[in-house]
Amino acid sequence: MILFTNARIFDGSGAPPFSGEVLIKDNRIAGISRAGEPSLPRASATVIDCAGATLMPGLTEAHAHLSWPSSVERFVPGMLLPAEDLVLNTARNARILLDHGFTSAYSGGALGKTLEITLKAQIDSGGMPGPRLIPSSIEREPPTDGTFVSSGSIAQDRHVDGTGPEAIREFVKSCAALGAKSVKFLLSGESALKPGASMQLMYSPEEVKAAGEQARESNVWLTGHAHAAEAVKLGVRNGFRILYHCTYSDAEAIDLLTARKDDLFVAPTPGIVQATLDAAPPPHVDMSHMKKDAAIVLEHQQKLMPELKKRGLRLLPGGDYGFPFNPNGRNARDLELFVRHFGFTPTEALVAATIGSLTVATVSLKKFSAFEIWTLVAFAI
Ligand SMILES: [Zn+2]
Repeated sequence: MILFTNARIFDGSGAPPFSGEVLIKDNRIAGISRAGEPSLPRASATVIDCAGATLMPGLTEAHAHLSWPSSVERFVPGMLLPAEDLVLNTARNARILLDHGFTSAYSGGALGKTLEITLKAQIDSGGMPGPRLIPSSIEREPPTDGTFVSSGSIAQDRHVDGTGPEAIREFVKSCAALGAKSVKFLLSGESALKPGASMQLMYSPEEVKAAGEQARESNVWLTGHAHAAEAVKLGVRNGFRILYHCTYSDAEAIDLLTARKDDLFVAPTPGIVQATLDAAPPPHVDMSHMKKDAAIVLEHQQKLMPELKKRGLRLLPGGDYGFPFNPNGRNARDLELFVRHFGFTPTEALVAATIGSLTVATVSLKKFSAFEIWTLVAFAI
C-alpha cells in the first residue's frame, strides 16, 4: 500500500484541485480523504509526503512514436539506428515517457513490425518501465515512385506489397496476427516531407473501405494520418478510431467528424508543428520548406480546433515526438500548445490529457480506473 499525503489533488474531471490524501492498494485507488475528513489508514503503508505538490492521473500521449529515436536524453540526427540500438532505444523512450508523466501511450506507428508488440509484453509482465501501450506495427505507406519519404521505414519491413482492397485486407490481417492493437494508415501524404502531398489521397475509397471491414473483423483499431479534407472523410466513414492533424477539414468533414464525436478522437498534433517553427537547424540542414508548411498548418488548425472543440469533439494532446527537433520526453508541451493555439484553458488541456484521453488508450473504462495509476506532476493550474 502507498499513501500519498499532503497532496493537492486534481482528479482529471475538471473540478478544482483540493487538498487531501490518497491510498493506493494493488495499483488501484482504495481511498481518498479531503482535508478536514478523517485521515486514511496508514499502518502498513509506505507514506509519501507530497508537500503540497499536485497529485493527478497519468497523462496519455495519443500520437506516440516510441521507436523514433530522439529523446530529451539522446539526440539522434536522423531516423535510422542499427537494429540492436533501435530496440533498446525504443525501450528507453518508453521509460522516458513514464518519467515525464505519461502512463499511457497510443501508438501512431513503429519502425519495426513487432517492436512495440514485444515491448508491450515486456512492460506488461513487469520487466520494464513504460506506459500502458496500444502497440502498432509499421505504418503503411502505399507503393510509390520512391519520392514519398515517410518518417523512416526499414526496407525489409515496409508492408507495401501491392495495391487494391485485397492487399489492404492482408496488411490489416497481418498486423493483427502479429499482435498490433492499432493499425496506422497515411490517408493523405505529408507536405512537410514532400511539397503538396498533404492534399493528396494515398488510398482509394475502396481500399480504405477494405481496411475498415478487415479491422472490424480482426478486432483492431485504425489510426489515420489525414491532412486533406477528403482523407478525413474517408477515415470518418470507414470507422477509424483516431485521426491525426485533420488540417484542411472542410464543412462536410467537420459535420462528419461531429456525427462520430462519441467514438472517434482527433489528435491535432501541434507539438511537431511548433517544433518545426522553433527549430534552429545547423547551416547544412534546410528546413525552410518545412517551416513554411508548418505555419500554414498552424494557421488552419487555430481556426479549426476551437470549432471542433465547440462541437464536442474529443481533441487529444500528442504531438509526433521522436524527431531530432521534437524529442520524446517533451510530450507535455502539447498541453501548453492546446492553451496557446486552440483556446483551451489549462484545466481543459489537463482534462483532455487525462480523463478525456483515457478511452483512447484503454479497452473500456471498466478495465482501468481513471485513477489506477497517478503521477506526481508539478503543473501549476
Ligand atoms: Zn506521426
